[in-house]
Amino acid sequence: MSKSALVLGAGGFIGGHLVARLKREGFWVRGVDLKFHEHRETEADDYVVGDLRDQDIVRDVIDRRFDEVYQLAADMGGAGYIFTGEHDADIMHNSATINLNVANAALKRNIKNVFYSSSACMYPAHNQEDPDNPNCAEDSAYPAAPDSEYGWEKLFSERLFFAYNRNYGTKNRVARYHNIFGPMGAWTGGKEKAPAAVCRKVAQARSGTSIEIWGDGLQTRSFLYVDECLEGTTRLLRSDCEIPVNIGSEEMVTINQLAHMVSDIAGKTLALEHIPGPLGVRGRNSDNRLIREKLGWAPNQPLVKGLEKTYAWIEQQVHRNAA
Ligand code: NAD
Repeated sequence: MSKSALVLGAGGFIGGHLVARLKREGFWVRGVDLKFHEHRETEADDYVVGDLRDQDIVRDVIDRRFDEVYQLAADMGGAGYIFTGEHDADIMHNSATINLNVANAALKRNIKNVFYSSSACMYPAHNQEDPDNPNCAEDSAYPAAPDSEYGWEKLFSERLFFAYNRNYGTKNRVARYHNIFGPMGAWTGGKEKAPAAVCRKVAQARSGTSIEIWGDGLQTRSFLYVDECLEGTTRLLRSDCEIPVNIGSEEMVTINQLAHMVSDIAGKTLALEHIPGPLGVRGRNSDNRLIREKLGWAPNQPLVKGLEKTYAWIEQQVHRNAA
């Protein structure tokens, strides 16, 4: 009999890719989300459109033991969504409710291993003020001081899944994702993140003109291609690692460098026009020492490889929308 997996948030960017990967691995997959995926037909064997804030729905979809459960559902977006402050109450309420429901319903079905996707946004803002030298080592998390309510909720939910491990002997696993990108994610509409937003702007611009960049563009980040994120995700859930680990890239670039990389891929010469906008921390990079130690693996694909694939897909969307 094939193994079974439950993907919560299957209609989202990472969840959609995860369903496809698990199908390739031979799993029977149930996906759940508020909506169908906007950019792909789901490959899930069973797909439920439902609201995971509702305990009855969560009990209905966790109606049996699954070999693997991935809890990716969250109310989230890029800087334009999580750093403006306008969505704070929804972000905290919606995501915490989902996680409370899922942790409890999984335990009631004797499901031991839930994967939970936390975020680098839970790291203290004061360790990320130097763009050349941010500290995102896992043990720098406390004393806690995330710069967004999104980060605080992630921290709460990490602790929730680990509290179940301590009190009920479950083996829930937690990763702290750092800026995951790739095709078939949000690229317009306000929830898109920097790589997708930059790809869209470059695809829409004529060579010799300019694109807008929020802030001075000297803030640093690293970006991880979605396939490597899933490799880390499945490896972590199947491991005996009992502490949260970063899943991210260590190739740190400024947002200006990111914009130049995408312009080069597109073969366009574009100036950068810096405008005010929500920014987040000044610098952030993944620290992969712990994941290497715990899993004997860490991402290593160059950023440009993933950007090429992502730009090609977003350029297609831009042209399709314009047609
Ligand atoms: P996404 O927004 O594309 O996917 C999240 C999905 O959750 C969406 O499809 C949404 O409809 C669904 N959802 C929200 N509320 C729901 C509800 N009440 N009931 C059912 N479904 C609901 O985001 P993503 O980029 O795929 O991220 C997946 C997970 O990884 C999230 O938990 C996110 O916080 C975390 N994460 C992502 C990144 C990144 O760079 N993409 C970085 C750090 C952490």
